[in-house]
Amino acid sequence: MGSRPGEAQYELAIVYHPIFSTEGYPTLRERVAPAFEELQARGLLELSGVRVLKPEPADEELVKKVHTESHLRSVSVSGYYEVALLSAGSAVMGAREIAASRAANTFCFVGAAGHHASADGFWGFCYLNDVAIAIESLRETRDAHRFAILDIDPHFGDGTRDILGSDPDVLHLNFHSGYPIGREEGTNNVDYALPHEASDERFLAQVDNALTAALAFSPELLFIVFGHDSHRDDYGGFALGDEAYRAFAEKVKAAFPRRVCYVLSGGSSPRVARLAIGDVVEVLAGTTRTGGP
Ligand SMILES: [Zn+2]
Repeated sequence: MGSRPGEAQYELAIVYHPIFSTEGYPTLRERVAPAFEELQARGLLELSGVRVLKPEPADEELVKKVHTESHLRSVSVSGYYEVALLSAGSAVMGAREIAASRAANTFCFVGAAGHHASADGFWGFCYLNDVAIAIESLRETRDAHRFAILDIDPHFGDGTRDILGSDPDVLHLNFHSGYPIGREEGTNNVDYALPHEASDERFLAQVDNALTAALAFSPELLFIVFGHDSHRDDYGGFALGDEAYRAFAEKVKAAFPRRVCYVLSGGSSPRVARLAIGDVVEVLAGTTRTGGP
């Protein structure tokens, strides 16, 4: 099958570094190697349309355009500076693969999360705002300017809101289990609050609403902040079941067949990670709909 002009060279880039499972934040790192092994076990890494790429640390000059000097000093003494730079570098690489029309879509592993990292603060296993840094990278090189972020991690993406919440060219679709709800007046910030016991059905109905909003915004690239701590067997809010993540990825792919960059976020359970990441990557690799090569 030849590719048409303007199409990506391959279906999916998976950005992965083994250090995420050894040096990553303890709550997040236990799931990394099992999830990657699951992709191998399912035969997904040998598909002709799939590439595995090794990230490089995010450039510190780039990071300084998103975070303050004092923030970087605090992160540098946290013990997670290197893995945070590499995690941000993973998102940057995933976004750039799409912008360069090499990969149709990307899935980026991390060892530290990003969405609670604001310009000058961090908490909740997050150190550097990986997605904000990736956006800055694409803007710096003028590869893309307008973005949507669909954050389905059940914790509020407060750091992302802090950095990008008043940006007219960023739509922030934010799932969480509290308040606020709805569109913040005069902004592109939309909050989808779900109860702690939210089922797959309720979650997926809101995903439909969020994707409708994303399509109306016409982003050049869509980021998914992919937390599987929303599973009932993991540590965050919502009570999603085993089928939710495949169904989610299929909805995203139907709305946005390409130019979607998944960035891993919360989640600890190796079983849930194998299932959730395995299913998402299967959908992105095209095996679910086409039956494989
Ligand atoms: Zn979370």
